[in-house]
Order: sequence, then structure tokens, then C-alpha cells
Amino acid sequence: MELKFTPEENGFREEVRRFLSEALPEDIRQKMLQRRHLEKKDWVRWQRILNAKGWAVPAWPVEYGGTDWSPVERFIFLEELQHAPAPEPLSFNTGMLGPLLIAFGSKQQKDTLLPRIANLDDWWCQGFSEPGAGSDLASLSTTARREGDFYIVNGQKLWTTQAHYADWMFCLVRTDQALRKQEGITMLLIDMKTPGVVVRPIHTIDAYHETNEVFLDDVKVPVGNRVGEENKGWSYAKYLLGHERSGIARVGVSKERARRIRQLATAVLDDEGKPMSENVPFRRRLTELEVQIKALEVSQLRAIGASRSGGHDAFASILKIKGSEMQQASMELLMDLLGPLSLPDVEAIPGQEIVPEWAPAVAPSYLFSRTYSIFGGSNEIQKNIIAKVALELS
Ligand SMILES: Cc1cc2nc3c(=O)[nH]c(=O)nc-3n(C[C@H](O)[C@H](O)[C@H](O)COP(=O)(O)OP(=O)(O)OC[C@H]3O[C@@H](n4cnc5c(N)ncnc54)[C@H](O)[C@@H]3O)c2cc1C
Repeated sequence: MELKFTPEENGFREEVRRFLSEALPEDIRQKMLQRRHLEKKDWVRWQRILNAKGWAVPAWPVEYGGTDWSPVERFIFLEELQHAPAPEPLSFNTGMLGPLLIAFGSKQQKDTLLPRIANLDDWWCQGFSEPGAGSDLASLSTTARREGDFYIVNGQKLWTTQAHYADWMFCLVRTDQALRKQEGITMLLIDMKTPGVVVRPIHTIDAYHETNEVFLDDVKVPVGNRVGEENKGWSYAKYLLGHERSGIARVGVSKERARRIRQLATAVLDDEGKPMSENVPFRRRLTELEVQIKALEVSQLRAIGASRSGGHDAFASILKIKGSEMQQASMELLMDLLGPLSLPDVEAIPGQEIVPEWAPAVAPSYLFSRTYSIFGGSNEIQKNIIAKVALELS
């Protein structure tokens, strides 16, 4: 079943495709195709190309450099980025902090920070989770004590993605111990070069360095770097996490992977020397996966329609759960198809020379894909949110 878009939307898709084929640097596309990790300079280069085109922050209001695209056009744009494949704009910058500052930031924060966020002049990381405060984020214990025009911050953040690249961190801190735990939280913008900020790597199961611990030891943060009001950080965090979850479905990534699996299955042979594309149990699994991805795509478009008519919050959670499950299922099928060839440093297997050069990156990616159902709020927590909304609606 093909989804039907309007002629204007199809024309828009063509325009995006043309731009991507002309503007996406080939070395970055190759890295993406081969599942090699991008370096910071790759992300920055691509984001600036998008920004020069005026497409760096499509969802922002036009007055802040955004576009007047409809939600469906934004969906198409993202899908085409994932199809190319091209790097998606850094979500911490464009999907989380940007919209938050547009909604709650001071005029000075908007004027100075938003253009830098869009152009990736500043790389932002998210300092929310702590040891003992992940799912139960409101229990966070990093403190900020007011001294004149500064806050003095002490504590530790955990799992901070790409903090080692970051120039700044948006950070939740406790400013009042006496209030109910959700009410004593404030959001601060912390310059990572401030004395007292120490970043230490955490290597994940794929042996890659993406996450970090961030230690904050008497870090002086100007009061002007507070977002909104003191002790109102929890409501800002909830606003921001809603944005994080809705962008997390990444349907285009799963679709692209299913396409690759279907293509590769004609070349990879089973034990009897026949292509896997003729192996009935494998074909059934692939078809089931494709059907589920299509259902997710339709759900995402329904969510877009619902947000236009003020739909409920549970959509973001539903998309997060199903999106992460589809990414995991498609990684698993790809891994099963490749078998030992998905491992780094495995010699070519006679009869399987056809296998692409990106195959050895698959096993590490598969291992990392276990995290998709954890970050952005674990899938169990999303189910709690859905249950709460369902009870309220009933
Ligand atoms: C790769 C990666 C990148 C990340 N990047 C960032 C980042 O950039 N910034 C940041 O702030 N954080 C980041 N995180 C942290 C992430 O948000 C937390 O790991 C997540 O919220 C879960 O918290 P936790 O690890 O403390 O697990 P816990 O909260 O201890 O949960 C452990 C298990 O218990 C389950 N559980 C907990 N409470 C409940 C409940 N009430 N009902 C049902 N089940 C429950 C959870 O689902 C989970 O399975 C990242 C995590 C990963 C893995």
C-alpha cells in the first residue's frame, strides 16, 4: 500500500530530493551509508549547508529562521533526510532547546542563542539524568545555590550524550529542597568551559564513545543563564521531553533499513546456497516488519493530523515505543541476515563475497540499538504515560 500525498506535497518531496542529491557532501553520505560514525566537523558542516538553504530549523517559527512548511512537509523533509541518508539536525539544538527558548526564553537568550543554535555554532547537550534520577527524573539532586548574580552548581549528570563535543549544556538543578520535588527544579544554561565542569567518557556496549558523565563542582552560572522562572524547570523539562519523544520514531530510518534488507537478501545465500530472498521464514519476517513500519508511518501521519486539532500527549509516547521497537526489529533482522558477516574483523566467507562493506558495522549498531527503548524516557515509562492518558480520557 502506498500512501497518497497531494501533488504539491509530491512536488515538495522532489525539491528536497534534488537539493539533497546536489548539496549533501559525498564523504558524509558515504559515512552514513556505511554506518561509520560522523565526526563533530561533519555534523557542523552539514548543518551549516542546511542553514544556508534556510532549512536548518524547519519547525521553528519563520521569524526565528524556521519555515512555513506544513507538518506533512516537515515529515517529508525528515523522511528524505533519512532516505538519502543525511544527518538529521542535532535534536538537542533544533528539536529541544530551540523550541524551549522560543516558548520560555528571555529576549536576550532568543536574540543571542537561537541563531547560533540553528547554525550549530554552539553544540548543546542535555544535562537531565543523574545517578538515581533517570525514570524518576524529579528526584535529581544536583544543587544550585544563589550567590548574588550567580548560581553555584554542584552535582553529577549521567549518560550525557556528546557532552565531549558540547559547548553548552541545558541542565536541570535543584534550587529549593523544601518544596515538593517537582517544584524545586530550575533549568540553567551552563557553558561547558566554566571552571568546575569535568566530562568523563562512558563507552557503550558497541565500544563507542557517545555518552558521558559530567561532574559539576562549584560551577558559577550567571543568573541571566536561567531559563524562565526559578523553580519552574519541571514544566519546561516536560515541554522539552514531549518534543524529544515525537522526533524519536525515525520511521524513515527503519524504512530505509528494510529496503536495504530486501535488496541484500537477493545476494546473501542460505545453507542450501539459495538467496535468502527465497527463504520462506525469512520472507515472512521481512514482510511482517515492513507492514509494521507502514503502520507506524500511518500512525505518525495521524499524530500530525491530531496535533493540528490539539490531539492528546500520548501520541508522542506511542510513537516513541513503536519507533524504537521498529528500529530494534529492523536491526535484528539485518543482523540475522548477515550472521557472522555482521561482526567487525570477520574474513570474507566463501560464496558470500557480495556482502557490502558496511556489514561489519552492523553488530555494533545492533548492540547499541538496545538503548533506543531506554533513552528519551524508557518504553515502560511511556506505557505509564499512555495508561494515565487512557484513564483520564475514559
Ligand atoms: C544511549 C543513551 C543516551 C542518553 N543520553 C542522555 C542525555 O543526553 N541526557 C540525559 O539527561 N540523559 C540521557 N540518557 C539517560 C536516559 O534518559 C535514562 O537512561 C532513562 O531515562 C532511564 O533512566 P535510568 O537509566 O536511570 O534507568 P532507571 O530509571 O533506573 O530504570 C531502570 C529500569 O526500570 C524501569 N522503570 C523505572 N521506573 C519505572 C516505573 N515507574 N514503571 C515501570 N518501569 C520502570 C525502566 O523502564 C528501566 O527498564 C541516555 C541514556 C542512554 C542509554
